[in-house]
Amino acid sequence: MKTVTILGATGSIGRSTLDVIRRHPDRYRVFALTANSRVDVLLEQIPVFRPSVVVVGSPDAARQLEAGLDDAHRPEVMWGEEALCAVASDANVDCVMAAIVGAAGLAPALAAVRVGKQVLLANKEALVMSGALFMDAVREGRASLLPIDSEHNAVFQALPTGCRGLVEEGVRRILLTASGGPFRTREPSTLAGVTPEEACAHPNWVMGRKISVDSATMMNKGLEVIEAHWLFGAGPDSIDVVIHPQSVIHSMVEYVDGSVLAQLGNPDMRTPIAHALAYPERIESGVASLDLFAIARLDFERPDMKRFPCLALAYEALRAGGGAATVLNAANEIAVSAFLERRLGFTAIADLCHSVLERFCPAEVSSLQDVFDVDRQARALARAAIDA
Ligand code: NDP
Repeated sequence: MKTVTILGATGSIGRSTLDVIRRHPDRYRVFALTANSRVDVLLEQIPVFRPSVVVVGSPDAARQLEAGLDDAHRPEVMWGEEALCAVASDANVDCVMAAIVGAAGLAPALAAVRVGKQVLLANKEALVMSGALFMDAVREGRASLLPIDSEHNAVFQALPTGCRGLVEEGVRRILLTASGGPFRTREPSTLAGVTPEEACAHPNWVMGRKISVDSATMMNKGLEVIEAHWLFGAGPDSIDVVIHPQSVIHSMVEYVDGSVLAQLGNPDMRTPIAHALAYPERIESGVASLDLFAIARLDFERPDMKRFPCLALAYEALRAGGGAATVLNAANEIAVSAFLERRLGFTAIADLCHSVLERFCPAEVSSLQDVFDVDRQARALARAAIDA
């Protein structure tokens, strides 16, 4: 029996995780569920999964939750970042699903790796913000880190078990696939007027709003390039992005002998979630069998960096090193939330990230305090630029 904490239980990844767990009551027990403010969703999940602890984002949300609980099952209710870190590192917990969106997920994910948990990492922003420090903490804590992002999970599956390093294993490059999002073929001159509803209507995946916008700008793929760098030790020149509109191949690894190993499946996050939850075993995820005859063809295109400047920015930030990725992530989070609030145009997301990076690109980030300082300063610059 594995005891699991789900950080971000009310989100898209959190709910898919619970869907897989529900299919295996003999294998998984839920220790804690966390959310920010969606108390209504928690109130539906609590009687089904009977967690010992539930964490929310504010005292108000905690009061609302307490008021809505019935006497049949009353978990301990906590709120705030310290509580998130506590349920991520609790001695009762074996495995932590890190599925909070954005920088808010960094502290609890770190708390889990520091004490050596098995961490299922969906929250790519945590790794983008603090890659070197996060990976050091994984090594020092002897944590095991399993990627949930479908692309990185695919790469992980296509690499040898216990991979000693890409060069040692004869890997030439990593090919990250990308659907191209909803605007792959849209006339570029019309992109400035795109609405949040259009940006969130992803052709293949149902996801939270922030990652949906990131997919539409392809910043998501850019963040994934940085994530792949830290997870697999690949330099920017060994990570290529391939547009593959069907989202059936989730990524590939090319070896020096010319072999290319791919992982395929229906676009459903329950596959990588089930893979990581059960690793190294395999369990039923609820995902339908892949019907290759219905799919019939697989297409590939080179990404257009002019149409998707955010992807180019992410490569630049990775090459620049230091605090550049932290700045890019922070500016993007502010830009995306302003876009979702209709205070910023779609194409202005890339412009804003570019201008913040031009003004602020710290050469060195050597502690977590530095990471949080850089994050805070980059957010302030981005907010000021939007309000100007
Ligand atoms: P959602 O927006 O659907 O869910 C986010 C979760 O985080 C919710 O539970 C939310 O709580 C919680 N949350 C938000 N802000 C805070 C905060 N400040 N403090 C504590 N908790 C907070 O996002 P997704 O599930 O789509 O994505 C989660 C992560 O997984 C992201 O990093 C994303 O990039 C990554 N990912 C997602 C994929 C997908 O298919 N969705 C695929 C691959 C990676 P509440 O509901 O109360 O707001």
